[in-house]
Amino acid sequence: MNELKKYAVWLVTGSQDLYGDEVLRAVDAHTREMVEWWNEDPLIPCQVVWKPVVRNPEEISRILAEADSVEECVGVIAWMHTFSPAKMWIGGLQRLRKPLLHLNTQYGRDIPWESIDMEYMNLHQSAHGDREFAYILARMRLPHKTVAGFWQEERTRRRMGNWMRAAVGVAESRRLRVLRISDNMRQVAVTDGDKVEAQMVFGWQVDHYGVGDIVRATEAVTETEIDAQMADYAAHYDLDTDRLEAVRYQAREEVALRRFLEWGGFGAFHTNFQDLQGLRQLPGLAVQDLMRQGYGFAGEGDWKTAALCRIMKRMTADRSGGTAFMEDYTYHFDPANPLELGAHMLEVCPSLACERPRIRVEKLGIGDREAPARLVFRAKAGPAVLATLVDMGDRFRMIVNDIDCVEQERDMPRLPVAGVLWKPRPSLETAAEAWMTAGGAHHSVLSYALTAEELEDLAELLEVEYVHIGADTDVGALRRELRWNDGLYRR
Ligand code: MN
Repeated sequence: MNELKKYAVWLVTGSQDLYGDEVLRAVDAHTREMVEWWNEDPLIPCQVVWKPVVRNPEEISRILAEADSVEECVGVIAWMHTFSPAKMWIGGLQRLRKPLLHLNTQYGRDIPWESIDMEYMNLHQSAHGDREFAYILARMRLPHKTVAGFWQEERTRRRMGNWMRAAVGVAESRRLRVLRISDNMRQVAVTDGDKVEAQMVFGWQVDHYGVGDIVRATEAVTETEIDAQMADYAAHYDLDTDRLEAVRYQAREEVALRRFLEWGGFGAFHTNFQDLQGLRQLPGLAVQDLMRQGYGFAGEGDWKTAALCRIMKRMTADRSGGTAFMEDYTYHFDPANPLELGAHMLEVCPSLACERPRIRVEKLGIGDREAPARLVFRAKAGPAVLATLVDMGDRFRMIVNDIDCVEQERDMPRLPVAGVLWKPRPSLETAAEAWMTAGGAHHSVLSYALTAEELEDLAELLEVEYVHIGADTDVGALRRELRWNDGLYRR
């Protein structure tokens, strides 16, 4: 089954008691048909659940409270097929904590010129019914997305699907536990932040464990478990080294880390190369293989990027494409072919690979430990996004850059890590200036499987400042936007 189908969104259709049973029966029949149709549609990632039409404040409050309490429900789609006076919605909406999509559609696409009469008009009222509803959303300043368009139209379904993906991200965010192994890299600013605020805004429970706990867990791993992990590596990767003991040590670390993550219900984690204590290698291959399985990760104590990585991986669990922790590494300032190389010292997720990854064992200049095993590969070409989350002191800011990953044409025989080459939009220089003007981190999450619109929906639903850098970005205009935002978000 499609991974995202286990998440449900409820279609709640508003009306009132004015119209009589016949009209309301027609409303229910129409919405049943729409839900069945959407559930066959590949652009609709989640299960859409039909609910009977609601006619008064009691029914509205009851259905929204139920949506809030049912775990598999990640959001509510509200649609006013007929007119539903919006004061009836205030109480229910005040308590709704789940993501809301306001769908402004119409059951019949075209005006039936020959047969249209007042009966038809009584049933097809969303052009004004949805405006009444939209007013109260605007008046209450409720975070939501509005999608207008015929319900079978590709644009409508795609935009609904984007919101659903963001709603899955919100659900994952609110239940996320992040495992911190050690603390942040010493003196680094951007990877740190306010964990209490993060829990209030995103719902993340960010917990620290000492490296000694992980060391003890690695010591408890048996040779049989390491053999099984090695067999799993052989199924996914090629061995490009004869230093098997080093690879087996990563297998040991992976078994230990996975056991720890499962024990604590953690969806994301970080390491810190400055604090390895009794670990013989910085986890490399171990971390890369855990990312392939869907865990969020970031290096150097970067708990925010690890969490964002997990959320973006869950939002795309039904899509191939690849989503990974990334770091801006090196520029290629050739005016004929400007590029940026993204990589990390070890931990690049194999979901980005365009070829079968190879396991290699190479010396690591920092961390002062044995040469770690890691996966090396070339990355896919194609459009992607880079996303980062920074703590501005009075708020979190999400920054998203549209990029185009390109095929790696030249070999880098002496570089023993996986890397991705990309051209940022609108250009290497402008994107870098815009990203840094906004305070964007050197750590980010790269995804071939998400679009900027889906991440904007996520930021909107989480009520986080969103900064987009794309084809139209102008640094001067962006600087003014950031200055205005400083005023808006000041508390
Ligand atoms: Mn880093």
